[in-house]
Amino acid sequence: MEKNKNIGIIGCGISGLSVAYVLLERDFNVTLVSQHHPLHSGPDPKFASLYPAASIIPHSVFGENIPELFKMSQSFFEELYDQEFPGLSVFQHYELFNDIKELPWYKNLMRNFVAFDDFKKHFYPRHPSIPVSSGWRFNCYFADWGIYLPALFQKVMEMGAELNLQHLNKDDLPLLSYDVVINCGGLSGAQLFDDHAALLYRGHLLSIQDAPKLTSPTGELVSFNFSPGKQHYSTQNDIPQDVYCYSRQDGWVFGGSRQMGNIRNDVWQGDQAMSDKIKVGDVLIPAKILSLNEGIIEHSFGIKTRNYLKRKAKMGYRFIRKKDNGLRLEAEEKFGKKFIHNYGHGGAGVTLSWGCALKVAELLES
Ligand SMILES: Cc1cc2nc3c(=O)[nH]c(=O)nc-3n(C[C@H](O)[C@H](O)[C@H](O)COP(=O)(O)OP(=O)(O)OC[C@H]3O[C@@H](n4cnc5c(N)ncnc54)[C@H](O)[C@@H]3O)c2cc1C
Repeated sequence: MEKNKNIGIIGCGISGLSVAYVLLERDFNVTLVSQHHPLHSGPDPKFASLYPAASIIPHSVFGENIPELFKMSQSFFEELYDQEFPGLSVFQHYELFNDIKELPWYKNLMRNFVAFDDFKKHFYPRHPSIPVSSGWRFNCYFADWGIYLPALFQKVMEMGAELNLQHLNKDDLPLLSYDVVINCGGLSGAQLFDDHAALLYRGHLLSIQDAPKLTSPTGELVSFNFSPGKQHYSTQNDIPQDVYCYSRQDGWVFGGSRQMGNIRNDVWQGDQAMSDKIKVGDVLIPAKILSLNEGIIEHSFGIKTRNYLKRKAKMGYRFIRKKDNGLRLEAEEKFGKKFIHNYGHGGAGVTLSWGCALKVAELLES
């Protein structure tokens, strides 16, 4: 496709901004049309880019070509990291399980991947009473969200993107004056195009502010996911849950929950945590997110979470689409123009952001 064409991108979350960056580098004119401002929006669980814990790991996502997209994304993150793009860091990341798990498909794509059997006699983050039976560790990229997202937004604006804050309705679509429209509208963007394949994984986060970075006895920055088994943490529908802790410049971010369901009139219809909930501000979160992480951190790093009382909780939706559909990355002709869809990234929208953006550029240029 000729350069200097006018491209409209619906959405200013991580997908829209990453696509904008790639297209601006290729000399397209880019306008971001978004209901929300990426940096100044109030809480809205449907605007997923307010919430990522932002590990670069392909968790909770389905669809074709995920390994290829992940590989492309990972290389792009690697380049940005080498250029010291703000907010990117590398952690020695542990994924640990109470039961036996096969090694993941992405094992060959992660730097310094080591299986549990090869480090179990040494340090790893562990709970005082729930044993680990399997797992792995690798060097993992993280995007410190409070730094990375504003830096990406600023970069895209400096490169020449326009931002048009507007809520689009279905009737607006035929009237859009851009040569091509890229749909990075997430859950609401899918609904705009009558795609009702929504399936959500609701997720809860708890930030523990001012807490220190976690380091291994040999001085590496450490992060972890721990799956304690169904008997310790599950949903009412018996789906086993995991918890995680990632360090950021301003403290820890604790997760997690992956409760499956949907929303009707903005009200959650779906799975709930089996066990107790705690209220932080006005957000209810599964109590296990705090208690399991607290146990691991005190036992493995000697730090008492109760010393850090500045806390904030959040809840957001990972829009996964139904398993048969998965991530949607394809072009369609509609209203006499080309639309390219890029949504349904589930729990991996940051992880796959660059791979998907490069694929959008390919679809645009083909
Ligand atoms: C608790 C939690 C933890 C997560 N952790 C991770 C993680 O560790 N790693 C990872 O990779 N991912 C993670 N994710 C997933 C990640 O946050 C999402 O996949 C990603 O943010 C999706 O981004 P997006 O830009 O595609 O969509 P969104 O962020 O939802 O953005 C949609 C955009 O479209 C706009 N829009 C929608 N409809 C309209 C309309 N009608 N008119 C105008 N504008 C419209 C919105 O205003 C917004 O700008 C997590 C998600 C949650 C909830």
